[in-house]
Amino acid sequence: MPELCMNCGGSWTPPDLIGADVRREVARLVRNDRPMAAIKQLRQAGEMSLGDAKAVMEHVTRSPGKCHRCSAQLERSRSCPNCHALNYDW
Ligand SMILES: [Zn+2]
Ligand SMILES: [Zn+2]
Repeated sequence: MPELCMNCGGSWTPPDLIGADVRREVARLVRNDRPMAAIKQLRQAGEMSLGDAKAVMEHVTRSPGKCHRCSAQLERSRSCPNCHALNYDW
């Protein structure tokens, strides 16, 4: 089952193979404005294609608990209650 984002219409392979420590590192890189390093981590740890890794990176929250797209507060679900974007709140 691919991941689907109801905001941008994107779909990609879910990052299921990635452990908690890698998720933390990817989130740290994204929040430090190092998207290429985040993509590299995802590709190495999860054996992801460039396209899938880029899609995952783009959906990591820039601030914990806030939608990467519209900054609305996320609730329990990964999809934003405001814009319906999928978020990885890592
Ligand atoms: Zn999206
Ligand atoms: Zn949103």
